[in-house]
Amino acid sequence: MFNLKEELGNLENKGLKRRLLPLETSQGEEIVIAGKKCLNLCSNNYLGLANDLRLEEAAIAAIKEYGIGSGASRLVSGNVRLYEKLESDLAHFKGSEASLVFNSGYSANLGIISSLVNEKDIIFSDKLNHASIIDGIILSRAEFRRYAHKDMEMLEAGLKGSAGFRRRLIITDTVFSMDGDIAPLPKIAALAKKYQAEILVDEAHATGIFGATGSGMVEHFGLKAEIAFQMGTLSKAAGCFGAYISADKDAIDYFINRARSFIYTTSLPAAVLAASIKALEIIQAEPQRRKKLLANAKFFRDSLKKLGLDTLDSETQIIPVVLAEAVEFSRRLFKAGIFCSAIRPPTVPQNSSRLRITVMATHTGEQLEFALEKIKEIAKELGVI
Ligand SMILES: *Cc1c(COP(=O)(O)O)cnc(C)c1O
Repeated sequence: MFNLKEELGNLENKGLKRRLLPLETSQGEEIVIAGKKCLNLCSNNYLGLANDLRLEEAAIAAIKEYGIGSGASRLVSGNVRLYEKLESDLAHFKGSEASLVFNSGYSANLGIISSLVNEKDIIFSDKLNHASIIDGIILSRAEFRRYAHKDMEMLEAGLKGSAGFRRRLIITDTVFSMDGDIAPLPKIAALAKKYQAEILVDEAHATGIFGATGSGMVEHFGLKAEIAFQMGTLSKAAGCFGAYISADKDAIDYFINRARSFIYTTSLPAAVLAASIKALEIIQAEPQRRKKLLANAKFFRDSLKKLGLDTLDSETQIIPVVLAEAVEFSRRLFKAGIFCSAIRPPTVPQNSSRLRITVMATHTGEQLEFALEKIKEIAKELGVI
């Protein structure tokens, strides 16, 4: 037998073994997890849409009309009309010619990257990009250059030496999922232009939050014309499930024909599509949600800094607190009624274990004050401040 037990034992000894915790509620500001009622400080349900009644009603109506399962892939068993609606809404929202929905952000990155480039091509990827991007790159077999986090000189040096490759693709998260900082998109766009590269951005943590209409960081920076491929998810701020790529019509047609994670998988349940359509509508109609989210984030981040805690370069709703004692800190928070997982290697680099705090638009001032009070107490107990 493979000695899996031994490997698990090693993880356990290093304090790196992961466990699943039973959850008994929806993903609200308060949850019941591992049998305890807690304030939720680590959900990507940023706008509170994951348990919005209007989304639930849209999903239930779609179930009544289309049932639960979708039967097969979209190319095989038919393309539910809700897909057409969701994809045209997404294209309008993102300001692109067309959009295509994938089953998840993970599978979107796998299919997009592995179909766009191959051995003849080269990819430049930020060191802190999401794991799904790394896996897509490996699958593509393209030459892979990782540049240090947001290091534009290193990116340029790589681009300079890349003339022999057929295609140059730069890939970056727009909001980094574990650090909460923002990619230097205007500089990346300028370099791409200079060296004839195309850009793929991952807006998983920006969709629904940044930009005048909430469509993401590309909108915030006014770079829709410069960025060929805008990918994002419907599973975080939109509170649903699935992901999208927005691009020109030819690119979308190409993915339909070439992206294996699109072709060889059963399509999403209609209920999920109906909920996503409703979520996009609410995101655009209720800008106060994203304003409240960013106000909550600023308040919380500023307060943590005042306590003397290290929040890296976070500028968003994702607020890391880097501490060697992250696991023990998280355990004590749980005891105090606050749920916030410790994030450890390999999800983050060695020696950068952290609490990854995420605030929500629906957190009340009282809830945030309570959390800050407990964080202060525990930081003192552990000698962190
Ligand atoms: C969460 C995430 C994904 C994966 O999306 P899922 O829909 O959860 O599969 C991809 N990229 C980034 C940056 C993410 O944070």
